[in-house]
Amino acid sequence: MESSTLNDVLHHLENVARAHARPCPRLLAVSKQQPAAAVEALARAGQRAFGENYVQEALAKQEALAGAGLALEWHLIGHLQSNKAREAARHFDWVQSVDRAKLVAALARYRPAELGPLNVLVQVNIDDEASKQGCAPQMLAGLVQAIEAEPMLRLRGLMAIPAPLEDMAQRRAAFARMHELFKQYRVGRDDFDTLSMGMSHDYPLAIEEGASMVRVGTALFGRRA
Ligand SMILES: *Cc1c(COP(=O)(O)O)cnc(C)c1O
Repeated sequence: MESSTLNDVLHHLENVARAHARPCPRLLAVSKQQPAAAVEALARAGQRAFGENYVQEALAKQEALAGAGLALEWHLIGHLQSNKAREAARHFDWVQSVDRAKLVAALARYRPAELGPLNVLVQVNIDDEASKQGCAPQMLAGLVQAIEAEPMLRLRGLMAIPAPLEDMAQRRAAFARMHELFKQYRVGRDDFDTLSMGMSHDYPLAIEEGASMVRVGTALFGRRA
């Protein structure tokens, strides 16, 4: 991992945002299937927020880097099984894949008080894919209410992984629908500041449509093993 790659991606985010009069999004470096050494190299180049899909894989990297003196922010972006909620609540700063009430209760219950509230995003199944995780848009209001009833959770916004459609107009439409939901729910919520969408192949489109955080793996680290 070359720090020049990080700078290239950061410049690209800035340029795309400026070109479309959008605020520059935060970069989440998706380090799944990458070794701890790759995380460390990117962290030394200035990257702070890292995303992982699997709890166990993330814990192994956190342990490997524990003595490195890096102040990292860990985001869980993969589907979370309820029986992993305890570990997730203890070892992540953010969980972006909250999609059901049972998970809300488990994360709140297991978040250690000394760590303060866990930042959470609700993952929305914006393309209504049968096979996909994420809460249906019609269920969002109930889930938001459940999260807001938990003092140990801090609702920061929404996350989506739109269907990988070839048709760019359809992809754009999914991002735009997410932005509409985000604006709707942001009203009256001071902490609701994050719309997480866009990956290596489609983040320019996501930024154009209002993403405030993009999750980039391959474009930063190269192909996964
Ligand atoms: C793997 C993954 C990413 C990053 O994907 P790239 O195509 O490598 O940028 C982003 N978000 C989620 C939820 C992922 O699983």
